[in-house]
Amino acid sequence: MEFVRKLTALFYPERCPYCSALVEATQIACAGCYDEIRRKHIPIPAGARGFRCISTFAYDGRVRRMILRLKYHDRTQYIPQIAELLIKDIENAYSDMDFDFITAVPMYKKDLHKRVYNQSALLAKELGRLLDLPYLETINKIKKTKKQHHLNYKERKTNLKGAFKVIDKDLVKGKKILIIDDIITSGYTLGECCKVLAKSKPELICCATIASAQNKYPESTVI
Ligand SMILES: [Zn+2]
Repeated sequence: MEFVRKLTALFYPERCPYCSALVEATQIACAGCYDEIRRKHIPIPAGARGFRCISTFAYDGRVRRMILRLKYHDRTQYIPQIAELLIKDIENAYSDMDFDFITAVPMYKKDLHKRVYNQSALLAKELGRLLDLPYLETINKIKKTKKQHHLNYKERKTNLKGAFKVIDKDLVKGKKILIIDDIITSGYTLGECCKVLAKSKPELICCATIASAQNKYPESTVI
């Protein structure tokens, strides 16, 4: 994989998406733009339907572009740098949590085949490595759902009904869990995953995402 990337880079060098300077393929931006992104980090405490969540960025500008490239343009090589940006906020927000493992919001099987990778799972694995936490798959997405951002407030809630299922209740019971997603908007996706996990009686569930768009969806503020 690394070889293919290097070979491709010879012919199609990666450029910083914000200023067009040449960059290494693993860099989300040139040093200057990376620094600007880093400075934009504001840990945003959010809620995922009653479950605690921390996001490192607001979902706009360069961060939005970075996530779209990660998600839809195969830039999985960004994961280590993105994890680096998130790690301090997660450590600070959850310093006393002593999690047992880290997990991620799953994708529907067919969607995963199409995209080949689940960016949230890749990020969770890398964060797990940095936090010294094992990564576990805990939830299956068993129903094809519509994209949440295409739906209104009410539809978002019903769209996810019955979409997730815990893989093994015994792995979840009594555990302290950190669950990762890329973005939190209405909080329904993460909230639904947390609710499904909660049925297996874990001790604690907390969430973390790269970015939060909750400021843009005031109608979906957690009640
Ligand atoms: Zn740049």
